[in-house]
Amino acid sequence: MTNYLIDDGTLLDCTGNSPSPRTSLFVEGNRIAKIGSKDEVKTFAERKGRYKTIAGAGMTVMPGIVDCHAHPSYGDVLSFEELDIYTGCEYRTLRAAHSLKKILRAGVTSICAPGCNWNINVALRDAVNAGMIEGPRIAASGRYITTYNAIASALPSFIEHPASSFGVLCNTRDEMITETRKQLKDGSDLIKVAGDGDSLTSDGHLTGTIDEDDLRAIADLTHMMGKRCTIHARSGMATVAAVKAGFDWIIHASYMTDDDLAVLLEHRTPVNPTLVLLVNTVEWGADVGASQGLIDAMKREVEAASRGLSKAYKEGIMIMAGSDSGNGMCPYGEWHAREMELLTSYLGMSTMDALKAGTINAAFALDMQDEIGTLEEGKRADILVVDGDPLADIAVLQDKKRLKVIMKDGVIVDTKTPLPELKIYPWEKPQLYWKEPQLLTQDFVRKRARNKPAWMRKTRNQEKKPTVIRAA
Ligand SMILES: [Zn+2]
Repeated sequence: MTNYLIDDGTLLDCTGNSPSPRTSLFVEGNRIAKIGSKDEVKTFAERKGRYKTIAGAGMTVMPGIVDCHAHPSYGDVLSFEELDIYTGCEYRTLRAAHSLKKILRAGVTSICAPGCNWNINVALRDAVNAGMIEGPRIAASGRYITTYNAIASALPSFIEHPASSFGVLCNTRDEMITETRKQLKDGSDLIKVAGDGDSLTSDGHLTGTIDEDDLRAIADLTHMMGKRCTIHARSGMATVAAVKAGFDWIIHASYMTDDDLAVLLEHRTPVNPTLVLLVNTVEWGADVGASQGLIDAMKREVEAASRGLSKAYKEGIMIMAGSDSGNGMCPYGEWHAREMELLTSYLGMSTMDALKAGTINAAFALDMQDEIGTLEEGKRADILVVDGDPLADIAVLQDKKRLKVIMKDGVIVDTKTPLPELKIYPWEKPQLYWKEPQLLTQDFVRKRARNKPAWMRKTRNQEKKPTVIRAA
């Protein structure tokens, strides 16, 4: 492996320390071997033999972004129907391998993938680790364990759960236990449970769909096997049940009353809010054909989440950044870093804390806080060299042109070779649900949406239209 000297940059190590100007960093193999002054690190590097130098002057050197909530198997879907059916396992897996490259090229060097179709996450993780495909490192879960009425039981009961669904139906505790055992046998790093429904299907008064005792049975078994569990819980009811049952972190926790929050504070359970999918829909959904009902539902949830989770943050609950990428309003490789910006604007987080949310805190979801998420000697060399100061303007991380070097495990990611243009096949069905039969890429948004983020407005249009292959 090539060793690298990242010379004379401003080190933003994401431990919470203030940035350290005029600092160099030496990467030996896949590890950070030395951090210090220019001269000190150069002397160290020269003792190690040959190395390449990366100019860091004027740049910020920080850890790779960690997205604790991304779904490579989803395929930027526009509906539950599209998510659950139409696309076979084989095509879905290959498409996911393509999507991983987009994620990595956005500076995201690690993801947690809580939930997928079939067992695609595990296959992706192993293929990335084996060096067969290019992508971020992955903590993989299998399909959501879901009951009727929860988000992953999206289709009517007379259709039931196709094998392709992102959820596996477990209405009784025996079924939940059996499925947990099966997923752990099949290689999952974590178990994902569907704890309630979706904003769309409620007026904000969501109920939980699985009780504390069932959740405790899943959590106890998972922990006994040395693995961890998380839950989709938008409601206060599901959040409280999962917290009491010992779930390791909560995804969403949007609708918490003060009483619900008190339970969370007592147990100190970390939360991944996932605002970007909601906010994108509110801000530019109308411009790409989203219904007013969908927009209103998302708006309600953002407001509720902002109220409850800003209090949780103030009380010291660990907030983890995750984007829910793979859903149509949050396409791969486009919006991961925006979550950190939204944590500052909607939860009142400091920029430093938001950066930690998208690095070291999110690393908790991979159970790798000792290995990734900060720049410290001995840790893995997952590093971004950024043209800009994320502490002054956190949105610079969303502009891929500013990411001058993306390094994962000591290897520099190729961001120059263009990725093939993705096409939509007729059986992917997006045209049934969206007025515009195109993938919602960043270029698409840049061209059409009036209410777009400032960093996006600055960029000139360069988009090419994705080709839509229509049925003959
Ligand atoms: Zn999700």
